[in-house]
Amino acid sequence: MADYVIPPPPIVSVPVAGGGSFPVRRVFCVGRNYAAHAREMGSDPDREPPFFFMKPADALLLNDGDMPYPPKSKDLHHEMELVVAIGEGGANIAEADALRHVWGYAAGLDMTRRDLQNAAKKEGKPWDMGKGFDLSAPIGLMVPASRIGHPGKGLIELKVNGKVVQTSDLSMMIWNVQETIAYLSGLVTLAPGDLIYTGTPEGVAAVQKGDLMEGVVEGVGTVTTRVV
Ligand code: MN
Repeated sequence: MADYVIPPPPIVSVPVAGGGSFPVRRVFCVGRNYAAHAREMGSDPDREPPFFFMKPADALLLNDGDMPYPPKSKDLHHEMELVVAIGEGGANIAEADALRHVWGYAAGLDMTRRDLQNAAKKEGKPWDMGKGFDLSAPIGLMVPASRIGHPGKGLIELKVNGKVVQTSDLSMMIWNVQETIAYLSGLVTLAPGDLIYTGTPEGVAAVQKGDLMEGVVEGVGTVTTRVV
């Protein structure tokens, strides 16, 4: 037994549909991975290799949990995303092998303090406080690829208070799941328990206290949270 001088942090995990828990190591996120969203954020989607940022594992907010409106922001945005769960780690994973490293998938939200992110962009500063704040990563139940396969296409949609605000198809990703894993594993060694939020389609916008967000990824599942 290690002689810890403070209590060690708990292991963060995501419940699996049908039972069990997926333990989470790191949370990677892909930026600007749908062309129409890249354009709405003011960049050219055709010229950019994938880029990544991170959230702490304990920023995850399990399904149906309330999301407190975060401090220091007046512009909290939703970003509806497919989440990939890595079951087998590796470095320099080939695209052709990439799906073998995937344990499963979930629907998730990359909640963003857009005002802080925009200020950071303008000043060339890190995005962390715009992206990686407490409970900034709502996530639905995990589903194993052994049951659902690997969704390369299908509806990805978010409703706020019952009204559709984001709708697209997984096939519209600029970098698909295989390419994303291949690229990211060339930058860092992926490990079991890593999650990858794969980017959001167009239609990102602000939410207010009281708003109910209900997201769905066809063939994967749902994510639901209310801003409080
Ligand atoms: Mn995002």
